[in-house]
Amino acid sequence: MVQIEANAKINLTLDILGVRPDGYHEVAMVMQSVGLFDTIRLARRQSGIDLQMDAAEIPTDETNLAWKAARLFLDVYKIQSGVSIEIEKRIPIAAGLAGGSTDAAGVLIGMNRLFAQGLSVQALCALGEQLGSDVPFCVEGGTMLATGRGEILRRLPDLPSLFVVLAKPPVSVSTAWAYKTYDQVGTMRHPDTEAMLAALKEGSVEGIAGGLANVLEEVTMKVHAVVGDYKRALSENGAIASLMSGSGPTVFALARTRADAEHAAAALSARHPEAKIFVVPAAGRNNI
Ligand code: ATP
Repeated sequence: MVQIEANAKINLTLDILGVRPDGYHEVAMVMQSVGLFDTIRLARRQSGIDLQMDAAEIPTDETNLAWKAARLFLDVYKIQSGVSIEIEKRIPIAAGLAGGSTDAAGVLIGMNRLFAQGLSVQALCALGEQLGSDVPFCVEGGTMLATGRGEILRRLPDLPSLFVVLAKPPVSVSTAWAYKTYDQVGTMRHPDTEAMLAALKEGSVEGIAGGLANVLEEVTMKVHAVVGDYKRALSENGAIASLMSGSGPTVFALARTRADAEHAAAALSARHPEAKIFVVPAAGRNNI
């Protein structure tokens, strides 16, 4: 049996540079793993894929990204036996935290161990790319610049030791909808990606906090004002900065200490008892 703790991601920046001839958006994103994880257990079985997941709203059939990852791995490496997969889901769904991509990446890493294939991180990323643009980052983990469709990765210095409050309002946002709406309305405020890279290089907490920006934030916030409410509650109560992650609606805030993060989380919870809140450390790169 192999067990993987597959971390969610947040976007320290998310910029859209244009739409490509193939219909995908050209992006530039600084991605960060966080210590909120799904636990994935894998075991060999005689044949086929058996997926169990404790999230009633997501089918466990061949449409599930974890299932697709397992199928791809078995097919590409011509493995005759099958696999049982059990996922304890903690990452909220359709939340901007890449929960599906995280599970796919965790399954690839886990199957590499289970079947002793000895694949490199590059080989696993190449498989991941076939499953979704965010999967290669979820294979690598840590702090990275993602460009192209999100699949071209450059390793960045680890985030200085910071705590992260994640807060998900009880609404779901479709990533496809957010990108389509962005295409129609655009934004006045793009992230300064180079400034964020410089801040990470210097380990400047102020620079990182000041550089948080996401072009999809306005789009989602217009429809879900609660995103702005959560950001204010966190920033007014000890967090150094806050931003919506991905296409949302999850808001995250950075704090210097766990105590500051817990304080901001408690204040948000008092004002918005409906929020699903997690306090976690930033996470480093994955062990392959
Ligand atoms: P992103 O940040 O990559 O846009 P997200 O966090 O907004 O992702 P996900 O949690 O990945 O969204 O879910 C998006 C959709 O993917 C869900 O509506 C769900 O039906 C589908 N899905 C397929 N497999 C999974 C999985 N293992 N976990 C979560 N969602 C999955």
